[in-house]
Amino acid sequence: MNTHILIVEDEADLAQLMADYVRNAQLTAHVLGDGLAALAYLSDTMPSLIVLDLMLPGLDGLSLCQQIRQRSQVPIIIVTAKVEEVDRLIGLESGADDYLCKPFSPRELVARIKTILRRSQTWTAKEKCLPSFEIKAEAQCIYLQGQALDLTRSEFFILCSLLQHSGKILSRQQLLDNLNQDHLDVTDRAIDSHIKNLRKKISAILADYKPITSIYGFGYRFDC
Ligand code: CA
Repeated sequence: MNTHILIVEDEADLAQLMADYVRNAQLTAHVLGDGLAALAYLSDTMPSLIVLDLMLPGLDGLSLCQQIRQRSQVPIIIVTAKVEEVDRLIGLESGADDYLCKPFSPRELVARIKTILRRSQTWTAKEKCLPSFEIKAEAQCIYLQGQALDLTRSEFFILCSLLQHSGKILSRQQLLDNLNQDHLDVTDRAIDSHIKNLRKKISAILADYKPITSIYGFGYRFDC
């Protein structure tokens, strides 16, 4: 899996410097200079880690951090120009994993990124080995790592089909047939948006866990 770092920083030179160092460490980097743009980006892409400046146009870094935390445990490193801010932020329980004060060495940033990634990847790999999904058919509920996924009826049936055929490709038509058996009125294209929602709901519980693979021109496969 590609390790993708999102850098949210409005000082263009600093953002570029950080991105260069991240790329030199064989990680991919994407830079955004606006809090609202970052929020929009995160609605369908979840990076492996986020480096977040506090003073941003659009939406400030602290609010952004709190909004991200409502749906994802993706690691976040906050960078700030104010040393005294750090104590306040920790007090506010912003949900960040680490803090760096400006000016900082980009090498130090990369070292922190690697440390946090190592920690979260070890954790993700460990979680992946477990039979982490549990289907409670009667309640039409699916649990991931003990947490209930908040699914619509269609999403429940699609995820059940994928889980029951884990490792095998299911076409949109096959997924559709399973839904129609249950008298749910769903179109071919709607399958794609249900899958999109399922991915979001799964990654809200396990940030780096992406078990549903799109098979271009055919359908989907669930890989545990
Ligand atoms: Ca700034």
